[in-house]
Amino acid sequence: GVKVHFPVKKGLLFDRTVGHVYAVDGVSLKVESGQTYGLVGESGCGKTTLGRAVLRLVDITDGEVVFDGTDLAKLPDEEMRRFRRRLQMVFQDPLGSLNPRQNIESILSEGMLAHGIGANQEERREKIKAILARVGLPANSLARYPHEFSGGQRQRIGIARALVLEPDVIICDEPVSALDVSIQAQVINLLEELQEQLGLTYLVIAHDLAVVRHISDVIGVMYLGSLVEEAPSDALYAAPKHPYTRALMSAVPVPDPEVEDRRERILLHGDLPSPANPPAGCRFHTRCPWAQPRCAEERPELTDTGDGHRVACHFAAEIEAGELEPTRPTD
Ligand code: SF4
Repeated sequence: GVKVHFPVKKGLLFDRTVGHVYAVDGVSLKVESGQTYGLVGESGCGKTTLGRAVLRLVDITDGEVVFDGTDLAKLPDEEMRRFRRRLQMVFQDPLGSLNPRQNIESILSEGMLAHGIGANQEERREKIKAILARVGLPANSLARYPHEFSGGQRQRIGIARALVLEPDVIICDEPVSALDVSIQAQVINLLEELQEQLGLTYLVIAHDLAVVRHISDVIGVMYLGSLVEEAPSDALYAAPKHPYTRALMSAVPVPDPEVEDRRERILLHGDLPSPANPPAGCRFHTRCPWAQPRCAEERPELTDTGDGHRVACHFAAEIEAGELEPTRPTD
């Protein structure tokens, strides 16, 4: 039930609240230990804000973030510090998230010092070397600076920075979207290897379904601050039920040019509405090809349809059975 509503301020001193941006508006999901949860949706859907809310990097308006039996949302800041080490984040832009004036040893030591890891610099250095080897970077990286590395290597540094703190959970926010396609698979494979070796739990945030498909056990699809569908990865790909997921899925290119693409094409018309003024009823009704009058009035609940598949659509079953004609063009 997590909500993150940002106040919209106006006035000379920005002291008047004139509304809210409903970035995350009541999302409930569960990430199992040792598994990967892929969270997808177009930019502005609230997925990054939700990831940041888990780490308390943004203020949570309402709801619970339960980690290992403790509701992080209600913890005083001082107590939250104890949990910070166990929940780490890997950012989208490796260059932007690494201080260009610090060498790699200094970047990786920073968090260790803050959390009291390593008795002295020698011990920390040994640990950093071991982690660098684990992420595939040479030991002589220690004295070098971020700009001396390629994009893929910088993302490995970002991953190493998280790993030196021995976290249980890593939130990967668009971990490969800033990287060349040829490098993306290497970083995804590395994340998978590390998960296997260290028993890590991942929340992977991405706008690209192709990225989360192979790495995720479960995938959640967000639209305008809400979770609209969730299912085990294979089930979601085999039979997406929500019209928005179906549209997203139909846009994923088929990698083999020899294979004829027989999938349904669903092109969405219109822009993503503003999260400061979301539509009433089903948030997707202004763009949904199957929208009915009921959709503009009643917000659909996320409902279990069996086998761990949850969907928030009044007419998902009818659409799947081909019993409902589109009310808008789909091409
Ligand atoms: Fe479309 Fe209505 Fe389902 Fe929303 S509830 S996704 S508008 S059919």
